[in-house]
Amino acid sequence: MSDCIFCRIVSGKAPARIVYQDEDVTAFHDLNPRAPTHILIVPNRHIAGVDRVEEADAALLGKLFVVARHLAEQEGVGNGYRLVINNGSLAGQSVFHLHVHLLGGRPLSWPPG
Ligand code: AMP
Repeated sequence: MSDCIFCRIVSGKAPARIVYQDEDVTAFHDLNPRAPTHILIVPNRHIAGVDRVEEADAALLGKLFVVARHLAEQEGVGNGYRLVINNGSLAGQSVFHLHVHLLGGRPLSWPPG
């Protein structure tokens, strides 16, 4: 989608600090980091949110977690990190292209706000 900022990052039309990219998944540093490590992992294909996922997306969604695990280890936070997916504006979703937040590098309290 041409008006989606994450689609534009995936296609190289908008700048980002990309840390991983393959044919299915792109990961880049969050512009407004909430922790020393704050990376966003997104499917390259536009999916607006968890409320739009379908059975056929299962392997792609699983891959987001595999990439998250490798990035957490690469970033040196493999001993404790949090994966967050906000779905819907009530839950704080502000970019409507599904993304997994990888947060780490500091103690993370529970429950989140
Ligand atoms: P959410 O509120 O869960 O939808 O998360 C959206 C995240 O995207 C926020 O943490 C923003 O800081 C981040 N963000 C928005 N625009 C950009 C961008 N151009 N590059 C990197 N991160 C961004």
